[in-house]
Parts: sequence; C-alpha cells; structure tokens
Amino acid sequence: MCGFVGLIGVEQASHEVFTALQSIQHRGQDSAGIASKKGNHFRISKDLGLVHQIFKKEDLDRLEGSAAIGHVRYPTIGSGNREDTQPFYSRRPGIVMAHNGNIINFEEIKDFLLEKSIYLSSHCDVEPVLHVMASYITKETKPGYSLEDVIHSLKETFRIVKGAFSIVGIMNIDGKDTMFLTRDPNAIRPAVYGRKGTAWIAASESVCLDILDFEICGHVKPGEVIFFREGEEPVFADIAPEKPSHCVFEYIYFARPDSHLDGKCVYQSRLELGRELARQWLLKHKASEIDVVIPIPDTSRPSAIAFSEYIGVPHREGFIKNRYSGRTFIMPDQAARMKALKLKLNPIDTEVTGKNVMLIDDSIVRGNTIARITEVLKTRKPLSIHVGIYSPPVVNPCFYGIDMSLKSELMGRVVMERLKIDEPCPDGETLDIIEKKMAEMMGVDSVTFIPVSALRNVFPKKFCMACFDSNYPVEITQEYLKVIENDRLCGQCNI
Ligand code: SF4
Repeated sequence: MCGFVGLIGVEQASHEVFTALQSIQHRGQDSAGIASKKGNHFRISKDLGLVHQIFKKEDLDRLEGSAAIGHVRYPTIGSGNREDTQPFYSRRPGIVMAHNGNIINFEEIKDFLLEKSIYLSSHCDVEPVLHVMASYITKETKPGYSLEDVIHSLKETFRIVKGAFSIVGIMNIDGKDTMFLTRDPNAIRPAVYGRKGTAWIAASESVCLDILDFEICGHVKPGEVIFFREGEEPVFADIAPEKPSHCVFEYIYFARPDSHLDGKCVYQSRLELGRELARQWLLKHKASEIDVVIPIPDTSRPSAIAFSEYIGVPHREGFIKNRYSGRTFIMPDQAARMKALKLKLNPIDTEVTGKNVMLIDDSIVRGNTIARITEVLKTRKPLSIHVGIYSPPVVNPCFYGIDMSLKSELMGRVVMERLKIDEPCPDGETLDIIEKKMAEMMGVDSVTFIPVSALRNVFPKKFCMACFDSNYPVEITQEYLKVIENDRLCGQCNI
C-alpha cells in the first residue's frame, strides 16, 4: 500500500507536499520521498522512515519549484530498501513519477526494457513503468515533447503494463511545467484531484485536499489521464477503455474515514457496513445475547457505532490504543507477543469484565491480531465474547497493491482447507460452517462475517472483491503467482 500527492502552481510546493503526505501516512510507513521541478532542474529527496522523521526544513527548502510530488510507501513488491523508495526520475525526457498499486507483469516489463538496454536500479515496480513511458516518449529525439507525444506514450505503456496503478508525474510538456495523473483501466487504486485558485493538486485520498484547503474537482476515470498546468484548465484524455473495479478494501480498512473515494464517503460506507453486519448478526442471534458493542480501534469505530444503534445495545470504547508504541518486531515467543499487544491495545476493565461483549473488527486476514486481542480480553473475564467482522472472510491473495499476497497465510483459506471446502466464494451454509470453525479456533462464542452477497448491497456498482469472491479483474498468470510468492517469502526472510 502506498499513497501519493502532487502539486503544481504553489510557491515552494515541496513544503505543502510534506504537509499533505503526513495526512496519508497510514498508506505507508516504511519510506517517503519528495521530488520537485524548478526550470530544467529536478530535485529528489527520499529515505526510510516516517515523513516527519525524514524531512527537515532545509531539505524542503532545497526541493525548489512550484511543482512537486511526494510518496509514502509500504512495500508489496520489492524488499522496501532505500533504493525502492519513490518518486523515481528519468533524465530523458525528464520525468519524476510515483504510484500506488502493483504491477503484475513486472518481470515481463524488465525483459522488455533489457531488450532496449535499459537497466533498473531498484525492485520498485514504478521504475519500469517510468522507463517504458520514457522510452516511448523519447523514441524520436527532438527539443521538446507535446501532449500528443505523452498521450501516445501512455497508450503504448498501458498496452504493456498490467496491474493496478494510479500514477502521478511531473514533466515539461509543450514547454510548460505539467503535472499528470492517470489510472489503470480498472481504476483499482484511488486518485482524486482538486484546485485552489490557479494551483492544482493530485492525491491518493481527498483528505490531502482538505488539509491544504483545495476544493475537490473529481476522481480520475478508469483508463484516463489528466494534465494540469498552473492557471490553465486541465486537459483530459482517454488512454484505455474503462473497466471500473475499485478496491472495496479501501472502504473497509485502508482509506481514512474522512476521505471520499470515487465520490463515496469512506465513513458513510463503514456505517452502512456496520448496519449490514447487524442484520447478519440478527439472522442468527438475539440482541439480548450481548451487553456491549466494542470496536477494535481505530478503523472499526464507525461500524461499531452503527451496529450498536441498529440492534439497540450500548457502544463503548473497550480498548485504548497506545499511539506511541511504534512497531512491534517479530517476537520470539507467545508471552513476548502478548506483552507487545498489551502495550499497543489495553482493555478497559469496567467495560468488559462480567459482560457479554460484541467485538467489531474490519476484517480477518492472517488472524493473528484478532486471536491475540481475544486472548487479552479473556484475561479480563468477560461472560462471553462474540466477534463481528464487517467484511467477508479473506480467502484469496491480493495482487493489486495490498500486502496479503500469500494464500497460505490467510486464515479464511487455512480454515477452508482444514474443512475441505473448495468454493470460490463461501456464502450461506458454507459460511456458517467457516464461522463456527473460526470461533472454535479462537475460543470465542461466535464469529459473524458479512457474506459477499450482502457486501454487494453496500457496494452495488462494479468493485473489485477478488480477495473475497475470487473474481480477479486483471488476469493473474501462474508465472506471476510464483514470482510474487517468492518475493513475499524472501521479504519474510529479510525481516
Ligand atoms: S483483491 Fe481485495 S484488497 Fe485487492 S484490490 Fe481487490 S478488493 Fe482490494
């Protein structure tokens, strides 16, 4: 998962990019970078760490110019070393670029570039995209490049590059500083743009626009590119036919609740999911079985509120999250892992002891966190623990930019294999069996998911739900599956 922001027409744009990047720090905490353009000079500064740790005022002062892009990264391909940090730069024709997503034919593109004697300096998947685009733009050597040249190069790039990608970049086009923002034909990852006076902003989430007082103008259409220049109206071009399939997980977990993605408010979506979960719960249980509804902070708060309102049972904060506990490293034993979790999330005795507790969480991916949370909760002696998850079980890996690419580590899949269930999208009685097995494994009284059929009530348009329903919007080859599995397994070895 990653996030980006781009600005054009703002004095010393890097300072504003720095501010906006902090508002999307949740999209990636491993590394961050900012690139700026002034005249014929590009400047880049990037490193490992959080945005506020990396950039000092003097770094931002050096990143001169009224056009700048920035990026926060959480690696889903590549090791996450410093050389994989975005943005990336190509001298010819002079572009800086950053993206959010995952390129699924990374190896194929590398071969394509090798044939042209173009070598890469990282394992980050935006670097080959940048070089493919640059290779098409610079096919003809001339003093400058036009919008038509760039649109043509993007059409060729979209033909070669497969996967999920929302891209922001800056280059000189028609002799003017130009920022471009584009999205793959499925528009899996978000991309929004807005204006303030003569300036333009591009970002992964609308919260960046709020922070900098920009007005939202729209969301990039699937397969579209938009060019922005200071004081001019944007230029729109279609690069590839639309096949919309926005990631539903952005609404469930990743995006900030105060963001709007493709015109849909994330907070409102989580309220709807909470109500849907309550309807599912009432199909199998009575409201009187629980005394209190407790969110696992922070993501599930809106859904827990909506759940409690729907069934008429009070909602309370049952866990306090330590905002300063930092990262928990791989722990050698269960006792150490429990200590780390307690440091992060501590229950409030008065709200849970002697009560029938309904815990609400967004999803179960690997299952480690929910298992440990219920373990901690049991030490406070509740009468019963019910777990409500406002999404279906994750039973498939994601190859489009979310770090859950190993099938073997997904709790939903592990349970299905134990139960010898082989269905692409568990629903109805099969889902009941899975819920019972998970409750048994966690030692809790019940587990309730939202089935995919009900998730579609909340997201009726075309959304990617492949990790729940096995319908991948972009075909995944067996070869790519092997590459990504090796990459992730190798990443785990490096931890
Ligand atoms: S597979 Fe899941 S996480 Fe990945 S893009 Fe689709 S909905 Fe989002």
